[in-house]
Amino acid sequence: AAEPGSPYRVVLLGASGVGKTAFASIFAGAADSMDSDDCELCGDEMCENMIEVDGEPASVTLLDTWDAEYDSEWPQECYMQTGDAFLLLYSITDRASFLRASELRITLRRFRPAQHTPIILVGNKCDLVRRREVSVSEGRACAAVFDCKFIETSAAMEHNVWEAFHGIVRQLRLRRDSK
Ligand code: GDP
Repeated sequence: AAEPGSPYRVVLLGASGVGKTAFASIFAGAADSMDSDDCELCGDEMCENMIEVDGEPASVTLLDTWDAEYDSEWPQECYMQTGDAFLLLYSITDRASFLRASELRITLRRFRPAQHTPIILVGNKCDLVRRREVSVSEGRACAAVFDCKFIETSAAMEHNVWEAFHGIVRQLRLRRDSK
């Protein structure tokens, strides 16, 4: 089955320093390994790439939002209106970023009141075990409250990062197929 023409727009949301840029680099890096010249980095904020999920190609545009706290709320909110799906990142070593993820989830609900917007809550930096401030069960409980999927990742170790990208594509496909 062919994918519909336009790529899925996946947005990285989260506090500053949680690993959004690291996620975007891993995603962008796949363009080389797949011998594709589709990947375009536009000021580090956007990258389009073709990835294979469950044996089927998917065209994904990844949008990296910049630090909300450094200006206004506007940039992330702007992305909330245009994205098809969201990876909501926090760092397991930074409780404030976990709280920020909750705030962003609430804001997201305001912009995307329709149900079934694909969202994955991502607890990044799980390699930093001794600096952990947010437990796995807290992350999982938060995701349950927010009615979204949950995964812990380490961008530094490239652990579970592709699982997160693949997971969001699977959710987008489910939504597409149920329409
Ligand atoms: P952003 O502000 O959300 O874009 O965060 P960055 O991607 O710039 O990451 C902030 C810092 O955390 C950088 O020094 C990264 O190298 C580091 N970092 C990102 N992800 C991980 C991770 O999974 N583990 C570790 N140990 N460091 C990470």
